[in-house]
Amino acid sequence: MRKKIVAGNWKMNCLQEEGQKLTSEIVNMIKDEPTADVTVVLNPPYVHLHAVNKLIAGVDRLHLGGQNCSDQASGAYTGEISASMLASFGASYVIIGHSERRQYFNETNELLTAKTRQALDNGLQPIFCCGEPLEIREAGTHEAYVKEQLTASLFNFSEEELKKIVIAYEPIWAIGTGKTASSDQAQDMHAAIRKHLAGKYGDAAANEISILYGGSCKPDNAKEIFSKTDVDGGLIGGASLKSRDFVAIIQ
Ligand code: PGA
Repeated sequence: MRKKIVAGNWKMNCLQEEGQKLTSEIVNMIKDEPTADVTVVLNPPYVHLHAVNKLIAGVDRLHLGGQNCSDQASGAYTGEISASMLASFGASYVIIGHSERRQYFNETNELLTAKTRQALDNGLQPIFCCGEPLEIREAGTHEAYVKEQLTASLFNFSEEELKKIVIAYEPIWAIGTGKTASSDQAQDMHAAIRKHLAGKYGDAAANEISILYGGSCKPDNAKEIFSKTDVDGGLIGGASLKSRDFVAIIQ
């Protein structure tokens, strides 16, 4: 059975008290929830990690993640945060290669391999993001584009390492736009990704990898998208900032 995961990506949102309030509300709403087979990951900005980690202690299926990590282990890299620091602050996941990092911070496939390496070496599960821009979708070459992102960044890892990676498929045209992919578009791409992983690592390994959908996922479309065979959950941006919406998506 693949792990079902809903991860909240707060991006650069929430002042100190807002982050604590949001976390407390989520904890209160899900601590007694029967949907306990869904793993929930909160990915706040770095400065919230310590407080969020304390607030989620005791709720087993709530986990902490970073939104990014350095490709370096430690040292003179002002402003950077290492995977080992994230782990030491209680994180067990880290988002790698979000399209906003690729686009605004010029993160390349090669750099993302190094970040994934750091995450794995420090016991973090990477939530590795892939996804095509609108012009690639319109040209009909989205499958090839996403496969290449995965090949270039991940295909040098061993099977054991790959199995620790969570993939997030996030079509860029659906992120923060309110324009979600249809459930069939998501399923088609998730199936293509799984097949691509199977081509390199075999069916058994590919069937163990959780593939999350991201891009304008909301309470009113999550059920339909998550019902698809190869969709194992979601990476949620905007809707993860409202406790009610986020919990509704988890449910
Ligand atoms: P969104 O963001 O849910 O606001 O579209 C998703 C993401 O970027 O991870």
